[in-house]
Amino acid sequence: MKFALAGNPNSGKTTLFNALTGSTAHVGNWPGVTIDKRTGVYRKAAERPEIIDLPGIYSLSPYSPEEIVSRNFLLDEKPDCIINIIDATNLERNLYLTTQLLELDIPIVAALNMTDVTDKNGDRIDVAQLEKALGIPVVKISALKGSGIDGLMERSVKAARSSRAGASVLGGSLSALLEETAELYRREKVGSPLFHAVKLIENDGPEVGKYPKIAERIRPKRDAADTGIFEGDFEGYIADARYKRIAAELQSVLKKAEKNAALTRSDKIDRVLTHKIWGIPIFLAIMLAVFHITFSEDFLFLGVFFGEGSFDSAIFGADAINSPGVILFNLMELFTSWLGGLIGGGLPEGTWYAGLVNDGLLGGVFAVLSFMPQILVLFLFLSVLEDSGYMARVAFIMDRAFRRFGLSGKAFMPLIMCFGCGVPGIMATRTLENEKERTRTIFLAPFFSCGAKLPIWAAFAGAFAYYKGINAELTVFSMYVLGIAIAIISAFFLKNTVIKGETPPFIMELPAYRLPQLKNTALHLWQKLKNYVVRAGTIIAGATVVIWALTSLDFSFRLVEDGGDSMMGLISRFFTWIFVPLGFGMGENGWKFVVATFTGLLAKEVVVATMGIFAGMDGDEALELEDGAGNPLWLMLIGVGGVLGGLDVSVPAMFAFMAFNLLSVPCMAAVAAARGEFKSGKGHWLGKAIIYWIATAYIVALAVFWLGTLFVASWWLGLLVFLALTAAIVLAVRFRIFGKIAGIFKRS
Ligand code: GDP
Ligand code: MG
Repeated sequence: MKFALAGNPNSGKTTLFNALTGSTAHVGNWPGVTIDKRTGVYRKAAERPEIIDLPGIYSLSPYSPEEIVSRNFLLDEKPDCIINIIDATNLERNLYLTTQLLELDIPIVAALNMTDVTDKNGDRIDVAQLEKALGIPVVKISALKGSGIDGLMERSVKAARSSRAGASVLGGSLSALLEETAELYRREKVGSPLFHAVKLIENDGPEVGKYPKIAERIRPKRDAADTGIFEGDFEGYIADARYKRIAAELQSVLKKAEKNAALTRSDKIDRVLTHKIWGIPIFLAIMLAVFHITFSEDFLFLGVFFGEGSFDSAIFGADAINSPGVILFNLMELFTSWLGGLIGGGLPEGTWYAGLVNDGLLGGVFAVLSFMPQILVLFLFLSVLEDSGYMARVAFIMDRAFRRFGLSGKAFMPLIMCFGCGVPGIMATRTLENEKERTRTIFLAPFFSCGAKLPIWAAFAGAFAYYKGINAELTVFSMYVLGIAIAIISAFFLKNTVIKGETPPFIMELPAYRLPQLKNTALHLWQKLKNYVVRAGTIIAGATVVIWALTSLDFSFRLVEDGGDSMMGLISRFFTWIFVPLGFGMGENGWKFVVATFTGLLAKEVVVATMGIFAGMDGDEALELEDGAGNPLWLMLIGVGGVLGGLDVSVPAMFAFMAFNLLSVPCMAAVAAARGEFKSGKGHWLGKAIIYWIATAYIVALAVFWLGTLFVASWWLGLLVFLALTAAIVLAVRFRIFGKIAGIFKRS
């Protein structure tokens, strides 16, 4: 005897399967696809039925590998009984699949699962009434608690001994057409004629392909049928008929308990936060507010009331009040400069080891450490947004807006994790069952600005604010938004070219909003903090020593006056020309940015550490510029600022530098993670991914630099060119030029 477990994803199939089969379970792959195939034996029954756990599906249409596998299994292998597992907390959606299974000529038993939850909620489900409506046995179970399972199996064994003819809930104007079509299948001796008939009328691709003669015979009748507002869209018409029937039956089957207050409150909040039009602007506004609290130097917008020079506090701000993030940053800076003085002050000046400690270790490591408070503040907010249930809504909003472009809400969940760190984010793509989508999602992972890139944005935002009066939080915000925008464009590009494939449907339960748990949040932050300090003390400290040596010594290991003559300086000069078109490869300081870009491949914090080292080396001139400038971070800002002040590297070039570092190859750990995940699938994607990241970074940085430069020269000209470029891209998409480029990419 063979029993197939069929049901929606998350209906508890695997839980039931494990309860039934225990140690007999065997996991493999379905032939031809990398979807789990689990089989096992139910030993308690004398018949020893074999249980097959089908992939979770919402319908039997042929849109995903899961659906195809399940459908083919049911039609070809003809199990003796289908156990249709139904999540009782979500009857309407689950019964949609049931109405399709009913059309097969196979005995079915409905297992009403999660009834422990419905009982607790006080919902009443009239099982006898449901049996009558469906015409099959219905058994209440809880797979998790193990209740009702033996009863379920008894009924299933009994059902398997009998036979059952398919029945459809579809009726009305469709009855005659359905009966006539089914009759044609019966004449051909095809099993489950009713199921085939419905599929044929739906104009289901594989069905029409397999039975072209019947399709041809039925076409005129089908064309003549009245589908009302669906205007010949039989698939939509039939889906609608199913749901209408389910809704009608449920009225007498289900008596829901009064909704509890928390749920309705969540619904009310959702009406605003997931609004069709305002959902995305609200998300962007929330992010901007978070960046404001973290990076603003005019937290309460009081700057306008204070005159120039009215007060000046190193910690709380000058002529305006700093945001909590900046105040903590200033405190940290005081602390590191005090510590730096204590450690490095006693070393004799001009010696190599004083250089190593002061410029190398302290300059690099402290530059990174100084940003820790701001990172923690940012993560505090991200953690609160996550725990409150808001991030799940963001996935939902993104899915609604961008699924047409190939970015589904399901893929968005691991990508949100990438805001923290790409490594767990890339690993979390395992939750995506569709391999194409999974591969695409890994390609997008680096574009979601991770925590290690934050010090880069913070350092430049600080320097821009100080030297150019550019709003700090907007600088940071622009990087995050640029990353998301490029990810959306990439999803569209990849879906239509290199990694073609459908975007599977995304259906998720939105959890009720709840207040974040203080303990959870604290634990989360503590782990971040520990992680950050450990990284600074190990990888980054190690890297800074090496970078210091490579940038201070020449090939005969002598200290150099000018870093440009060092090993790294000489090597990087070979590569600077590559970055000249991006604006930051030229001039006296260009090579420093090139070095930072390369060293950043190790870990993105190292970009800032490298800038810190350079600032430390140039410190002597900087000391004359600003007083009290012994602090490595301060020096670094001056380093960047001095560069900004000079003619050779401009603000647009700096934005291009940031954009390049945002989008190009992430750190080695993330590359290794991507390699591991690509390995588990088919195809050799790592090389292509790396090329894709570098190419994207280069093209975007190029656009940022040139558009930015134009914009600075004349804003309307910049805007004009930007619009023209956008139009060109839209046209390229319209005429499928991307596809042609991909063709070249594939051949090579
Ligand atoms: P599948 O996707 O259909 O294989 O579903 P799973 O077996 O993975 O179950 C999804 C989730 O529902 C898991 O967190 C289970 O612990 C939970 N679950 C499964 N059955 C029950 C049940 O009877 N009661 C409750 N409360 N939870 C259940
Ligand atoms: Mg499962």
